[in-house]
Amino acid sequence: MTTTVAAYAAPAAKAPLERTTIERRAVGEFDVLIDIEFAGICHSDIHQAREGWGTAIFPMVPGHEIAGVVAEVGTGVTKYAVGDRVGVGCMVDSCRECDNCRAGLQQYCTGGGPIWTYNAVGKDGQPTHGGYSQKIVVDENYVVRIPDGLPLDVAAPLLCAGITTYSPLKHWNAGPGKKVAVVGLGGLGHMGVKIAAALGAEVTVLSQSLRKKDDGLKLGATHYHATSDPKTFEDLKGTFDIILNTVSAPLDFDAYLSLLRTDGAMVNVGIPEEPVHILLSSVSGHRRSLSSSGIGGIPETQEMLDFCAEHNLGAEIELIRADQINEAYERVVNSDVRYRFVIDTATI
Ligand SMILES: [Zn+2]
Ligand SMILES: [Zn+2]
Repeated sequence: MTTTVAAYAAPAAKAPLERTTIERRAVGEFDVLIDIEFAGICHSDIHQAREGWGTAIFPMVPGHEIAGVVAEVGTGVTKYAVGDRVGVGCMVDSCRECDNCRAGLQQYCTGGGPIWTYNAVGKDGQPTHGGYSQKIVVDENYVVRIPDGLPLDVAAPLLCAGITTYSPLKHWNAGPGKKVAVVGLGGLGHMGVKIAAALGAEVTVLSQSLRKKDDGLKLGATHYHATSDPKTFEDLKGTFDIILNTVSAPLDFDAYLSLLRTDGAMVNVGIPEEPVHILLSSVSGHRRSLSSSGIGGIPETQEMLDFCAEHNLGAEIELIRADQINEAYERVVNSDVRYRFVIDTATI
């Protein structure tokens, strides 16, 4: 038996989101039914609801920063019990057989790709629907545990913004003795600053203006520079081991690459819609790398949540009602949020 669930959906591309109901599949042998309590609003929800990234599936219930409590488990479930605090991020399944899936890198599944939490088609042939809803049914292998120390509302954004910054910071060895620059202090950037600082790195924020400087320093940065000031690029030449770029608008990549030391890496987790232009001499001169990274696998997402609980790192949020979603979208587009909107799904 499917379950009818209240949700907020975009009925068509660029249309405002509105209250509706959706059907969740019956709880299968290895499934967990989650009562969703909070869902973060990620900029990629807006890109997809407005077809900024290409043709999408409508009606669309966005949301891939999901935090809630287990309400029911299938007969074969071993990892979770009713009452457990859990999260769901950007994917709800994958092939489970390719090398990447076996290595816990399900986000890079080569067996048809991961099945995204929304705007995708599940293994049952039905469209997937995300976290702007009151319940979701997910296979236990794609559910993670939210440690007791982390409140569910500030934990929700970790499921995308947290892992998207944690994974590359770990991969490129952010830690004591390393200088990390975080470009952009938004939803991703503010978590990048918190996590890089908690990993022991010396953190610099590179933001367009000094408008959020006080926040940046409070979040854990030691330095804060305005990229609108050309002097920033002269002063910081050859400084950083890692530049984590969270800005999805195109940048002057050559200018940013010049800020890396020898063997430094610029990792882009903000993805522009257009091709970018760089001079290869910007990387060759100091054996620099220009790279990118997508979310993280299920084991690393769990590791990130445990790390954030241990270091008391939640997202900085503005909690909203469901009827404020459309207004929140406008504010996200205008970079007017400090630093993540989270929907109280009880208000749907
Ligand atoms: Zn996201
Ligand atoms: Zn796979």
